[in-house]
Amino acid sequence: MSDWINIPKNVHILLNSLHAAGYEAYIVGGCVRDCLMGYKPKDWDITTSAKPDQVKAIFRKTYDTGIAHGTVSVRLGEDVYEVTTYRVDGKYSDFRRPDEVSFTTSLREDLKRRDFTINAMAYDPKIGLIDYFQGKQDLSEGRVRCVGDARERFQEDALRMLRALRFAAKLDFSIEAKTYEAMEEKAPLLANISQERICDELTKLLLSDNPWRMRDVVETGLMAYCIPEFVPCASMPQRHPYHIFTVAEHTYASMQAVEADRILRWTMFLHDIGKPPTHSEDENGCDHFYGHVKQSVAMADTILRRLRFDNASREKILTLIAYHDCELPDTELSMRKLLNKIGIPLFPDLWKVQVADMRAQNPTLLEERLEKAEATMELYQRVRNQNPCVCLEDLAVNGWDLIAMGYPPGKAVGLVLRQLLEVVIECPELNQRGILLETAEKLKKKPEIQIYLG
Ligand code: ATP
Ligand code: MG
Repeated sequence: MSDWINIPKNVHILLNSLHAAGYEAYIVGGCVRDCLMGYKPKDWDITTSAKPDQVKAIFRKTYDTGIAHGTVSVRLGEDVYEVTTYRVDGKYSDFRRPDEVSFTTSLREDLKRRDFTINAMAYDPKIGLIDYFQGKQDLSEGRVRCVGDARERFQEDALRMLRALRFAAKLDFSIEAKTYEAMEEKAPLLANISQERICDELTKLLLSDNPWRMRDVVETGLMAYCIPEFVPCASMPQRHPYHIFTVAEHTYASMQAVEADRILRWTMFLHDIGKPPTHSEDENGCDHFYGHVKQSVAMADTILRRLRFDNASREKILTLIAYHDCELPDTELSMRKLLNKIGIPLFPDLWKVQVADMRAQNPTLLEERLEKAEATMELYQRVRNQNPCVCLEDLAVNGWDLIAMGYPPGKAVGLVLRQLLEVVIECPELNQRGILLETAEKLKKKPEIQIYLG
């Protein structure tokens, strides 16, 4: 691993400007870690001995984004950089943030307050790498280790425990033994962390190349304080011809089998969470989970609301879970019926969910099931290209048309529109204004409609 880091031009300008004004300045944290590993950093953070006012005096365009913590954002061209004054954190009394921060002139003190050795390195092109805590060695040996005493560091800020697991998943690293033990001990402190921040970290872990490392969250005991509903999945066997894993192991494998997309990974994570509460065993020792889909939807709804997911994402995930187990359609009609329920755009995601689910089950049955799935994707593309009407908005008539022909506004209109939609889903060629108005006229004779006509 070379110590040389290729720094973009704007970052050079930033560092040089701070140096020219007589201050120390380094790139620090995630960008140093990522560069040493040969990855492209997301952003370039700078740590400096200059106080926020002094930083603001040097650069033309600055914003007080985190001034209370010593962070000034500096705009150079299109890019914005966070420049933070060397700082030490005061006492932590709430297990998540320091009561106060104070500035220091010591880079070492600033690096010491950082979470992990791999995140506590600084670099200046003229001076080279500053690595007081053997971060580079941990990086090359693939280890996440706290800076200093792990128990104290997790006591200060409990979110660091999830951050450790997230970095381990993202970088495919192990967790150093003392850091791991401290996590097992301090897991209950996670109760002090907001649901949004927990959700953020879990999402980052899920979106890594190793989502199966959700297993670490269970095994360290942290899961009981993030998504306790998942814990029973880890000890839930599935003795059944389709399965070879526990519910949790099947879940990890299914996340691994789906692309790194927030909706898809969360769907796979939660799709079988309703299995433990619906478990039963038959006389042959076979496990059953009757009603688990409905149960999973209900539990996922509770969990996603608790984690403060936005409504649109939550609804997508719930729909995908609700249909994850449905028979894939094999005729144009059954495809249109399914598209009516889930919406045309969601089908490709549902397909990916079903394929990932299959790949995480008994491999002896996989090939045949995948062939069937391939055929369904072709069927979907054919049906979609026909631009079928599968929802009320696409009907060739609307509520006003029905009111104009004598239907009273309200329930009757909704009922007739739904019946017309059913007709059109059966026979797409009937989605024509003239034909549907005629059909609506005939529907007036039906007893269930007549009650509304008076
Ligand atoms: P990412 O690629 O996810 O941005 P990162 O290492 O840059 O990774 P950030 O959350 O952006 O992570 O934080 C930047 C730096 O600030 C970290 O590298 C670490 O040095 C420090 N840091 C962030 N959060 C904490 C924390 N909770 N406790 C201690 N230090 C932290
Ligand atoms: Mg960062």
